[in-house]
Amino acid sequence: MYFNEVFEIINEGVSLALSYFIDTEKRIHILYLFSSLLLAFFIYKKTKIKGSFWKYVFNKRIWLSKSALIDYGLFIFNSFLKILLLAPYVVFSLYIAFYTNEMLLQGFGFPQSSLNVTLTIILYTITLTIINDFSVFIVHYLLHKVPILWEFHKIHHSATTLNPFTQYRIHPIELIINNIRSIVVFGLITGLFDYLSAHQINKLVFLGVNVFSFIFLLFGANLRHSHVKLRYPKIIEYLLISPYQHQIHHSDNPKHFNKNMGSKLAIWDWMFGTLVLSKSASKIKFGIGKETRKYNSLLSNLWNPFKNILQIITRNKQRT
Ligand SMILES: [Zn+2]
Ligand SMILES: [Zn+2]
Repeated sequence: MYFNEVFEIINEGVSLALSYFIDTEKRIHILYLFSSLLLAFFIYKKTKIKGSFWKYVFNKRIWLSKSALIDYGLFIFNSFLKILLLAPYVVFSLYIAFYTNEMLLQGFGFPQSSLNVTLTIILYTITLTIINDFSVFIVHYLLHKVPILWEFHKIHHSATTLNPFTQYRIHPIELIINNIRSIVVFGLITGLFDYLSAHQINKLVFLGVNVFSFIFLLFGANLRHSHVKLRYPKIIEYLLISPYQHQIHHSDNPKHFNKNMGSKLAIWDWMFGTLVLSKSASKIKFGIGKETRKYNSLLSNLWNPFKNILQIITRNKQRT
């Protein structure tokens, strides 16, 4: 019996990992990988890089580095974790939506007039995209600024080479934090629009949100975690984070620490004074300085945060 259950979990974990290549909501869907390849070709031609295009993109030193192998390991490890721990909780967003709607009805009664379908789609898409992006920024900001949270987020920054899978190089604790964030935000906004539109929230409404993320993913989201320096014109970089701006976020140089923490929109960094434009950083190395070498295995990436947090706590206790 146990054997069957274990087999089932392995099967589901592997299926989930593989489904990322054919799920249009996932960044590493083959279509987005292909569009990223086209953009990489454009950069290759524009910057007149020596050697073949193949060698430039599929550089062994990047894709098969020790750092990359840890990325792949964490990607698979986290897929299993999602099946075991997180999948059952997605339904919570529907509860949150339901209770948000109920509370609004109790507090304000039925709305005098409700939004029509078109307005619902437009406003829901804009609101969810902006609020979601802002919540990603705030959580990312806290992951950098709160010492205990930074210990977990360091794993993402301990990568010394970047490839599209580095996106999934996150500590399981950060994965849980991110999931709670997205469940809460999705639930609250959906509940609010359920109320404002008198229950016109249905599958059609998600179309707008999907179109927006489709455009984002198609236009090189994968290049954020890569060595391809795709920059946007200066004015656009005040509004949208370019792939190179995210690479600056991974820079080993202390002057780039805690900069460009936005996901899609750059306006939050602009507002918080943490925005760095591509033109101000020409050469960058990835990592977290001297500490990087302590994160050279899958196990050390999983275990170091707990070890370091224990040290922080005992140090604080000794001080008081
Ligand atoms: Zn970060
Ligand atoms: Zn990153």
